[in-house]
Amino acid sequence: MVNKIGVHALVFEGSTSNEELSRLSEKAETLKYDVLELSLHDLDSLDQKFAAELFRAKSINVVCSRGLSFDADVSSEDTKIVENGSELLFSSLEAAANLGSKFLTGALYGALGKYERLASKKGKANAVSVLKSLSEEAHRLGVELGIEVCNRYETNFINTAEQARLLIDEIGADNVKLHLDTYHMNIEETDFRQPVLSSADYLGYVHIGESHRGYLGTGTINFEEFFGALQAVNYTGPITFESFSREVVAEGL
Ligand code: MN
Repeated sequence: MVNKIGVHALVFEGSTSNEELSRLSEKAETLKYDVLELSLHDLDSLDQKFAAELFRAKSINVVCSRGLSFDADVSSEDTKIVENGSELLFSSLEAAANLGSKFLTGALYGALGKYERLASKKGKANAVSVLKSLSEEAHRLGVELGIEVCNRYETNFINTAEQARLLIDEIGADNVKLHLDTYHMNIEETDFRQPVLSSADYLGYVHIGESHRGYLGTGTINFEEFFGALQAVNYTGPITFESFSREVVAEGL
């Protein structure tokens, strides 16, 4: 097995207070995960210095992730909203670098939520422009970016691996990678194999999640087909388990 195995922090803890970070790092260490994915949804109250020291002391490999919001959305047509989104992305990139993370991923191209219309041409161009600058800053910091493909109820922009590849081509930077998630693929793709085969040169990160976000093996995802495809393209990147329970995740999120 060459792939690093990761776990999303929200599997265990709802947010990123120092107390939660301490419990998280202990769980990741005890359960022998190679990667801990930390969501930056509460960046304002995240104690970056504390987190960086904690992860360094325990030699925890951290990946950071986030989505944007409707008032901070780089795929908007509204200049002010695009600026807000851009600021959020740049501060998240800085936080990721401060935490020792070499990868920042998620729906970096838009708000996570149900839109009432398709992304416009102008909005898409705004997202490409911000992500180009972000990839340059990421390159300077030695960080790679991930474009996570999400389903239609969570983004109006990047729903399929093919759309993500086109976006990555438009950004045109080799530190921007494709991020597939089986939960979203189950809703949007025709199968679990072809999107992986077509994305071999782009793929940099993978989320495994069940069709209902619950325990692996209790839903309808064809993991055999998906893992077979990863093997067929010699995927060597991380494979991170993502699951959400309302007993763990903060109510607001
Ligand atoms: Mn995911």
